[in-house]
Amino acid sequence: MATSLLHQTLYRWGRTGRFGETAEADLWPVASSLDPSSDGELRRWHDRVKPWLRVGDGGRPESSFFYAAFGDEAVLIRRIQPGAVRSASAHLLFGAAGVLTPRLALELRDWTWAPAELPGRAPMVNPNSLIPHRSSLGARARAEELRLPLATLLSHVLVGPAPIEAPATGDTMALLWAIDDICTVFGSGLKDWPDWTVGFETRAEAVWHSAPPSGLFLRFHRDAVHPAPAPGTRFAALALVRMYLKGGTNALRDLRGTMGLTDLDTVAARVARLIETAGPTVAAAPAGPTAPAAAVDPAAAPARSPGAPSRQRPEPSAKPGASMPAPTPSANAPRSASGTGEQVSCPICLGTLDWGGLPVYAFDQSLGQYVELALPKDANEHQRARIMRTASVRCPNPGETTTAHYLPAGYGQYGSPAVYGFIGGTTSGKTHLAAAMVAAIERGALGAYGMTAQPVDLDRHQGFLRDMVHPLFTDGTWLAPTREGEVAFADAFVVTGGGDTPRAVALFDVAGGELSNVGDAKRFLDIADGLIFVADPKRFGAGSLGDPAFNTVLSLLRSSGRLSKVSAAIVLNKADLFKFDDPVAYWLSRDSAVLDPAEALNESADVFAYLHQRDAEAWTRPYQECERATLHVVSATGTDAVERGVRPLRVLRPLVALMAMTGLLTSAEAQDMGI
Ligand SMILES: [Zn+2]
Repeated sequence: MATSLLHQTLYRWGRTGRFGETAEADLWPVASSLDPSSDGELRRWHDRVKPWLRVGDGGRPESSFFYAAFGDEAVLIRRIQPGAVRSASAHLLFGAAGVLTPRLALELRDWTWAPAELPGRAPMVNPNSLIPHRSSLGARARAEELRLPLATLLSHVLVGPAPIEAPATGDTMALLWAIDDICTVFGSGLKDWPDWTVGFETRAEAVWHSAPPSGLFLRFHRDAVHPAPAPGTRFAALALVRMYLKGGTNALRDLRGTMGLTDLDTVAARVARLIETAGPTVAAAPAGPTAPAAAVDPAAAPARSPGAPSRQRPEPSAKPGASMPAPTPSANAPRSASGTGEQVSCPICLGTLDWGGLPVYAFDQSLGQYVELALPKDANEHQRARIMRTASVRCPNPGETTTAHYLPAGYGQYGSPAVYGFIGGTTSGKTHLAAAMVAAIERGALGAYGMTAQPVDLDRHQGFLRDMVHPLFTDGTWLAPTREGEVAFADAFVVTGGGDTPRAVALFDVAGGELSNVGDAKRFLDIADGLIFVADPKRFGAGSLGDPAFNTVLSLLRSSGRLSKVSAAIVLNKADLFKFDDPVAYWLSRDSAVLDPAEALNESADVFAYLHQRDAEAWTRPYQECERATLHVVSATGTDAVERGVRPLRVLRPLVALMAMTGLLTSAEAQDMGI
């Protein structure tokens, strides 16, 4: 097709059309600008677009689009089917790919250019006549709300030109606009550009009826799983999206010049350079079936959803609303439950125990210890219920790894506990951070996030307050670092208000230094859900290999295949010492109790850049290797002189982020944290 004019063909449902009478009712061409004297061209296009003419059997109010380039030719199809299948029709616009670009296709989305009726011999379409019908999405494509979905989608695009699936939303067209903008700046005109030209299908059916067109093809449908970002490319994606949102395509063009991309003559090479420059890539893809796989292999079974949710959320083991087990009516000595034998994980010894039938205790404040509970003989059901609400059971302590400990009588209904560990060298201040977090929880600071927390074991909690919190907060003394080779339980809480059912959160302090007793750490890492990596900015510097504790933990997680199952919050601790550095100053001044994934992403990107600037790339490894991760500006004590009083800054933020990333918080915002 040497002309810049475009052709059009209209399809309607029925048994007749330009190919004559047919036995089967289907979509057939009824009007076209192609030469009516021969069916050859019409037949060629029909065979090409047949799989893409319809969007399923059910009617739907919205139209949907298909766009793809086939060599030098491109086609845009608007599919509509307001009701039953006989209401289906499809309008094709096709011609030279250089004229009918993805940009033009997106600009024509309102379809105001098309006449209501077409004569059987339809006119060709002059692109100039389309000008008044083109409308830009440039502003929407750079809206702040799109930062996360765009960065996620772009991370998959950067993996390489292939089919990618994503959920259909009201912003599908704006996302496509942005992806097209970004790809065009880096690739237009290069020899492998046709592979990277954006093809798309909006509001698609869940099932693929045909192999997708070759190259980059973005397919949006309602049932698609929200994809996780591709781990190896998310930094590059994030950096490009930040730049695009701030400065549009001009900013990207500047980048193209300053990074020497113009010397590279393929899109693939330019993308590789972008990925390389944005940060070291993940050395090995996370093993196991949860590794994100956005690209759909057209040869394999179609309709594979990309990016399975990054983490299986633990199923609560009981119905919401049940706050305590019913006491056994006939027994005088109460039991935790009537022997259901349900398997429960203990957040303190991390053992698995059979819940039910355990003797019941109460914490005696005056004695400061747990005492076995005997209910008055004449207690009625109401009185029993009241007593049981504050009662505890003694953990049978299956592994005998620690001394006696107690769990709330209702604990068996809370599902599996979320297990978090503090990782970092002895000077990192992680023990102080644990103490400052527990102090904030004790003060009720989670309330600002709509959560309440009750200690799991009052005896242990008071012990932690006595040994760790009060010395730091009341007496102003430094705490002794965790002993080498140990994983020490710090404290545990039952948190209510994060999701449908209460969940326990258990905090463990993992020894600093070289982790000499790797066996202990290994057992802990086999069950940990989240890790708080505490970075000591006093140890940053050129040539540093990073914190040995970070590196050991990451190696252990990689060898056990659990990198993809653990979320990470990296804490830039002692931030008060660097409060005049940009961006530390900015983030220290912000601490609102709002779970905002976009803000978390900005903070992560800023801290990441700051660590690079301070020659501390090695401390960013958890961010690159764990599937979900955030970076935070924090100061556990707020001062270098604790004897004059501590003032913790932003200490709850990494904990709340971890709660979101590990599924303890279930809001939509929580699901976007750390991707
Ligand atoms: Zn236990």
